Formats: sequence, C-alpha cells, structure tokens
Amino acid sequence: MKITAIKSCILAVPTPPPMAAQYPQQKLVVAEIETDAGIGGLGYSLVFGGGGAEAVLAYVERLKGVLMDEDPLFVERLWEKMFRADQGIKKQGIAAYALAALDIGLWDIAGKAAALPLYKLWGAVTDRVPAYGSGGWSKYSEQELVAEAERYAALGCRYYKMKIHHPDPQENRKRVATVQRALGGSVRMMVDVNQRLDVLGNVRQAAALEDLDLVWYEEPVLADDNAACAEVARAIRIPVATGENHYTRWEFRDLIERRAARYLMPDLCRALGFSETLRIGRLAAAHGLALSPHVVHELSLHVVGALPNGFLVEFIDWTPPDLFAEMPQCRDGHFVIPDRPGHGMALAPGAVAKYRSS
Ligand SMILES: [Mg+2]
Repeated sequence: MKITAIKSCILAVPTPPPMAAQYPQQKLVVAEIETDAGIGGLGYSLVFGGGGAEAVLAYVERLKGVLMDEDPLFVERLWEKMFRADQGIKKQGIAAYALAALDIGLWDIAGKAAALPLYKLWGAVTDRVPAYGSGGWSKYSEQELVAEAERYAALGCRYYKMKIHHPDPQENRKRVATVQRALGGSVRMMVDVNQRLDVLGNVRQAAALEDLDLVWYEEPVLADDNAACAEVARAIRIPVATGENHYTRWEFRDLIERRAARYLMPDLCRALGFSETLRIGRLAAAHGLALSPHVVHELSLHVVGALPNGFLVEFIDWTPPDLFAEMPQCRDGHFVIPDRPGHGMALAPGAVAKYRSS
C-alpha cells in the first residue's frame, strides 16, 4: 500500500454556551490521507481555543513530503521519520500537533486495513470506558456551573471537573463546595489550576480544599517546571494530575521519576498521536500510575480501552451534531468504544464545506 495524497485544512467550529463565553471556537487541523488501496485515514489535531492552528497546518504541509509514497502500515517507521525530520525543530508544541494529526490518520488506515477498531488491534482491555464531565470555566456564574455539573450527572457521569482560577483560594473553595452540595454526594470531583499558581500558591489553595475528598488536583504549575510540580505533589494531600502540556515519553519519564503526579494526562493531539501516547501509557503502567487522557475523548477511548491502567476519558460536550458522522454517546456515564474499523470517526458530509477556515 502507498500513500498517494494528503489533503489538509482547518475547521473552525463554534462552541455552544456557556462554554462559548470562555472559548468561542475550537479549531481542528485535519489531514486526510489517501492510498492506492482505496483506504483513507482521517487524522486531526484539536487545537483548543484555536490559537496557533494555522502554524500547525503549515507544519502538516511540510510533513506531507515525508510521508508521500510510503507504505502507511509502517506506522512506527513513519513516526520515526517524521520525528527525526528537521532536527533543528524539536517535536513539541506546533510541530507535535502536526505530527499527531498525521499519526492519527496513519493508525486509522492500519485499523481499516486490519478491519479492526484500534483498541482491539492493540489488544483490548474493555469496550466500555467511564467518562468525567469537564468544564466549569472561570467565566461561568455559579448557576451556570451547577447547571453544567448537573447536566453531566444526568448523563450518568460519576465524576466532574471544574476550574479553580479565582485569585482568592476561599472563593474557589466556595464554588467547588457549592457544586459538590448540588450534586449530593453521587459525583466525585476534580479541580484544575491550569498552570496558574506557584508552589506556595498551590500549597495554600490545596489546603483550602483538602477536606472535600477530591479525586485529583490538576496542572498546579507551569508545565515546563517538573521540579515545582513534584514539590507541590509532595506538599499537598490531594493527588496531583498533570500532562496535557507534556509532549514526549521523555517528558513523562521525568514527571514519573520525580513522582510529580499520580495521574498522567497526555493529550493525543499534543503528545505526538496514538503511537507516543500508547508508549506513555505503558510507561505509566510500569510505575503503577493511571492514565486519563486530555480531551478528544472520541479518539482517546481507544487508548483507554487498550491499557489496563486506563482510567477516565475527559468528556467536554461541545461538538455540534453536523461535525462528525457519528459521535460516541455517553450513557450511564460511559462510552462504548465505536466498533468501526480504525478510530471510527469520520467527518459528517458537508462539515468541511461548512466549517473550513483555511
Ligand atoms: Mg486541564
């Protein structure tokens, strides 16, 4: 089999309220890989909030030349080829999103060629994955916050995650406690700092939340500073989760060696696609750590379904019904992994025409 063409574009997709108050749109950098066998692969990277998507698309264009005429079933070989292209450009940030989109498309072809969904191709653990409802952005009113948490609870989600971005730790505590009270004990909660505090700020914030029995305390410090993350993990009594802004197995190895987190959260579209995310997941397993991938749950399901240490997928219910042909549905707090060959996702007819921005 040979790669004959790769078509790429950006889809700019509006988000629904109340999320739109924080992030009015998302951008998907799409790479559709065509082969001489008539099997096509859909790759895409979700650029959260959209900033930088055009730069990702430019690097996808660059990597097309690396893949053209190659056999797409040699996924690992092609991953190495892309990773080692342009040795002066480290495959993190923009370049990593681009590589990820193409790796996701290659695996889609591999699954379709094997007539297997990816989680089964990789040796399935489960076909049903629990999800946590995620959102709770800082611009939400208390009413919006509770309404969102209740909406996920009504879908059966037994976990809900919200942001704690207020400069006053007691204000954050108040919001978390309000949601917890409204949910009435049937739902456990997580909180997300999104890299906004330093070590002492986190110690102070976590102390104000300690009695609330939270599942995890997420991304306490700048993702660049694993030493500080480890210091927080040692100092607070809530388990730390991090990793959505870590890109490679080596970045995760450093987190693990420093014991900087109990839950690792690679983002498929940042952490260099399915190939590297699976390696990160297995590395985590070797150290007794759970994996809970960041966003794009429709793709992450295959990773969690293939790893014994897979925990939860992050469910942000933002996609309009005319973006994908068939979005997995949350029932009783779980997603059944699509049994279609490959990753099972396809763009809806007309989605490119409607949402294409470049
Ligand atoms: Mg986060």
